[in-house]
Amino acid sequence: MRNILFVISGPSGVGKGTVAKLLVKRNENIELSISCTTRKPRTNEVDGKDYFFIDKSEFLSKIEKDGFLEYSNHFENYYGTPYDFVFNKLKEKDVLLEIDVNGGLSVKEKFNEVVLIMLVPPSLEEVKKRLIARNTESLEKINKRMERINYELSKKDLYDYVVVNDKLEETYNEILKIIEIEKNK
Ligand code: 5GP
Repeated sequence: MRNILFVISGPSGVGKGTVAKLLVKRNENIELSISCTTRKPRTNEVDGKDYFFIDKSEFLSKIEKDGFLEYSNHFENYYGTPYDFVFNKLKEKDVLLEIDVNGGLSVKEKFNEVVLIMLVPPSLEEVKKRLIARNTESLEKINKRMERINYELSKKDLYDYVVVNDKLEETYNEILKIIEIEKNK
């Protein structure tokens, strides 16, 4: 069976990080890609595990060397998918990218075989509640993220699959089914 590159996208606070980590934890044939970012680590985040935390000049030099499969700049920080990391892992396993919608669409332009999955919230109020509960950002920043949500949701028709993330186990099972369908194609 061939290894497949999957992207999970969805607005901030939709819970895609939790779903992605669960998929990797329970399926040894799936590896989560680690992105580079210039944003500062949150409490509990570990360099080389959650992200490669690098500074802006290092990020810009990696862009110049064509080191990213895609990258984007939002919330005043850069985020990028390291090209080598993904394609080396893909030799051994399925790879999961947990990136924003623009990132997912850019990957599709470069690598048509990618499978794009969008997680959407059951309601917008639910997302705001989750962001506030996370307690890592000011209300102003949370409101900025909320503005972006509408933009991200407007792109869902360009994704291969759209999954409503209401109950974690149900979402997990639905994504597992998608993976099986794609593996058996
Ligand atoms: P956070 O700061 O909450 O970790 O991530 C902010 C946003 O950046 C999320 O939507 C996340 O999915 C996205 N993101 C994380 N890594 C990447 C990446 O490598 N590329 C792109 N385009 N977006 C990313």
